[in-house]
Amino acid sequence: MGIVGDVEKRYLFTPGPTPVPPAVLAAGAEPIVHHRGTDFREIYASTLERLKSVHRTESDVLLYTASGSGAMESVVANLCAPGDRVAVVSHGSFGERWISICEQHDVDVQAIRYEWGESPDADEVAAAVRESGVDLVLCQQSDTSTGVVSDVRSIKEAIGDVTLVVDAISSLGAVPLETDGWGIDVVVSGSQKALMCPPGLATTSVPAHVLARAKRSRSFYFDWQANKKAQDKLDAAFTPAVSLIRSLDVALGLILDDGLEAAFERHVRLGRAARAGIKAMGLELFSPDDDSSAVVTAVRAPEGIDGDDLLLQLRDKHGVTLAPGQAHLKGKIFRIGHIGWFDVFDITTALATVELSLTELGADIERGVAVARAFEAFETPVAA
Ligand SMILES: *Cc1c(COP(=O)(O)O)cnc(C)c1O
Repeated sequence: MGIVGDVEKRYLFTPGPTPVPPAVLAAGAEPIVHHRGTDFREIYASTLERLKSVHRTESDVLLYTASGSGAMESVVANLCAPGDRVAVVSHGSFGERWISICEQHDVDVQAIRYEWGESPDADEVAAAVRESGVDLVLCQQSDTSTGVVSDVRSIKEAIGDVTLVVDAISSLGAVPLETDGWGIDVVVSGSQKALMCPPGLATTSVPAHVLARAKRSRSFYFDWQANKKAQDKLDAAFTPAVSLIRSLDVALGLILDDGLEAAFERHVRLGRAARAGIKAMGLELFSPDDDSSAVVTAVRAPEGIDGDDLLLQLRDKHGVTLAPGQAHLKGKIFRIGHIGWFDVFDITTALATVELSLTELGADIERGVAVARAFEAFETPVAA
């Protein structure tokens, strides 16, 4: 384990929570302000404006103190009544989460399921939606459990007027998502992934035409109308996590100062570096081997090695945290996140420790090439 003085040096390479820049952490350590005073109102106003820019929408972005799943639940609580029928496009563990939330709310789900690791096909989705006659579709842009980033723009084009809700919890700020430009009706996200913030805040963009079709909320806390009314007056409905909102304001400022386009380009190059290194070691990718895989790189554990054992070795021996496979992929894959405050040295560190740990566990892999290949891949300009 890397020891500096008597402090363990640890490395976090998971697709949420993600590393947080010092300025963002420092903002969260400022003295607490009262949430109904002018001090906070300024921060709140700035954060809500910046959220609109990052969501690429002119509509309201509701901000909750909750993890990302809270924003997901707000959608079902406000757009569905018991017995309503909705379609869920599921191609990983977070698609299954949409289904669980719907079931908990007694909503009837038409599941449009794909194998984990496959990308949904827009025309197939549209055909299934037409056949079932639903007027609401829930999906993921990035299903973080597999690394697949699906083409939500084509899905929206194919389903037309049917309301589309996109879970962009791990993809907002990492890959392009034109909420207004593509006509995406609702986008949910969270603070602890590409937005470079600690966990604890969730967002939902809700345009007027969607608010108009909302039902009586079956959640008190996540009631869209009540939250919007309060936000409109810069007077949060409930005590918000003021420190986290300070942090989010700074993080969004950093992202927007650099520009979203620069962030998207960096994420593509980080994905390229991760894939090049993994392949150079002789390992097999689970996530698609193309530039869409800019959020997380999922890798098959090599023959004879359990992915979870590898992760334990990485963490306990070398202080490096990667993400495991979920559900039926447990032990079979491992995942390197590269969203948010990541640069190429994070990727090469992750690759170098995977290489070292696999060697320690007795796997037969190619040594000494992954890092060099990763640097080469990262250097290749994206505008090809
Ligand atoms: C992380 C994540 C979630 C859930 O977020 P929590 O903050 O853990 O509630 C939902 N969907 C996707 C795609 C995610 O990556």
